Amino acid sequence: MIARLQSVDNELQDLELEKGDLPKQIEAITTEIERLESRKTELDNQLAEVEKMRRENEGTLQLQKVKLEKYQGQLYSVTTNREYDAINQEIEGCRSQIESIESAQTNLNTEQESITGQIEPINMKVQALQGDLAEREEELKGKRADTESEELELEHEREKLVVRIKKVIIAHYERIRKARGGTGAARLYGGACGACFAVVPPQRQAEIRKLEDIILCESCGVLLLPEEEHMPEITEDEL
Ligand SMILES: [Zn+2]
Repeated sequence: MIARLQSVDNELQDLELEKGDLPKQIEAITTEIERLESRKTELDNQLAEVEKMRRENEGTLQLQKVKLEKYQGQLYSVTTNREYDAINQEIEGCRSQIESIESAQTNLNTEQESITGQIEPINMKVQALQGDLAEREEELKGKRADTESEELELEHEREKLVVRIKKVIIAHYERIRKARGGTGAARLYGGACGACFAVVPPQRQAEIRKLEDIILCESCGVLLLPEEEHMPEITEDEL
């Protein structure tokens, strides 16, 4: 059964290879879009903060202007020098406030422009990437449609095999398969491991052929299976 599983997995791997690096490309584009969008959210928040400050400043500015006008009006009705000086001082205070707020507004304007300037290319880039992504997804979909039924059949067979094989064996097989780029089990081949070609001692070969125990290649770790002709159907099922 492990032998059949390995061959099902090989077929699945071949189908996956047919899709080329499209899945990887799609993943990379998706990651890039996510990164850009999170940067855009950051900039949007900064922009909102700047706009809030500008509105607040605008309010204070209007207040100061009203105050200034009021004091300027009072100047005409003063009767003493002291009063005149006091009002003039207030007017000076208002003017300097207005000046500092206006200069702050200019800075905020510059900041707003700079943030907007950064958001624009991000938006354009995201748009381009999304177009790219849609194109590649469409291409992958086309490729999948060609192999889908075959793939489903193999996946189905795989599931049925996996539940019939002992969990420890499957776990080992999966681990080695992952580490060795697809090979978790190999048949004996001329007295050697079929995966790494390390020589297997005759005593071990005999044990492998009897399928009495799980024998791993001492060199590469794959599950060793008998040569095809030594593969009795029933015993194989027990493995
Ligand atoms: Zn080996």
